[in-house]
Amino acid sequence: MWKVTNEINKPILSRYADIINSMFMLFIELSKSGTKDADLEIENFLESKFTEDANLDSRLLNINKSGSDRIKPLIKDIIKLDTNILEAQFDIYINQNNEVIKNNYNILPEVHPNCLVKIFKDYFYDKFFGVSWIWTDLVGKVYTRGMFKTNFKDENKIYVCPYCDSDTISNERNAWIEHFLPKSKFPFLSCNYSNLIPTCTSCNVSGSGKGEDIKNPIVNQYTTQIGDHLKFEFDKGEITIIKNSNDSIENFIELLKLRKRYSEKGVNNSILTVLKVNYNTLLGAKDIGEFDEDVFFDFIHDTGRINGYYFVQKNLFEYINEI
Ligand SMILES: [Zn+2]
Repeated sequence: MWKVTNEINKPILSRYADIINSMFMLFIELSKSGTKDADLEIENFLESKFTEDANLDSRLLNINKSGSDRIKPLIKDIIKLDTNILEAQFDIYINQNNEVIKNNYNILPEVHPNCLVKIFKDYFYDKFFGVSWIWTDLVGKVYTRGMFKTNFKDENKIYVCPYCDSDTISNERNAWIEHFLPKSKFPFLSCNYSNLIPTCTSCNVSGSGKGEDIKNPIVNQYTTQIGDHLKFEFDKGEITIIKNSNDSIENFIELLKLRKRYSEKGVNNSILTVLKVNYNTLLGAKDIGEFDEDVFFDFIHDTGRINGYYFVQKNLFEYINEI
């Protein structure tokens, strides 16, 4: 719900995109050969092509998902595709990534050959990400998923989930790298820094948090401080998020199931307790002066970036006497 940035991770993942671009372009180039089926049978054929490319390394061809799930047969399947198909897919890859870098998430899923989906999801995102030499070669230092999350938290000075403002992401095991546009439908965006965000466990699970049914128009935490647009209501001890007249915001609320999450008994009660404790804390400190609403709002703002519930507390303040 807080508007955030992802600038520290940006140059690192942009550099990583060079590997993906180069591999994709090499696949297209190799697909053009009339003798490609025979070429691909030549021993170390792919190794020599990878060695010739400044952004590639033949060691990439030894990174396998498992004993039976190997990268070389997968690459051969891709190269055996028709060049026209690969070129059309490359255009989609470039266009989708350009849009997301511009923070436009209003894009539609496209159809992709399975072998391309697999190399993006299982290799570029899953496997390659965890190989330390790739990062030391690319950016001169070790880089991990954990560092992606740490960089993000350091940059934004935020330790609460940017989607729900409810759970924290301070603990390593409660922070996941979430794909805003899901990699099942948008595999070409699986490594784009503008599509990746650390979130809490609940938000990363489709049953409780973000599913795959994204409706356009949509905004997210990289474009908008969504919490500022939410209106919470309090009636008979229950908190509800009022339907938003802005479709982009309402689609975000529905995508993250925020209405349901905030109405859960445990969440509802903990919000009311936090608000009451914060209010009483500042009320108890008023011997240094009168209770000051501005000081109160500064207090919940600053503690909210660490503990959560800033936006809902801000909204519910008008009901403080009932709470
Ligand atoms: Zn969350």
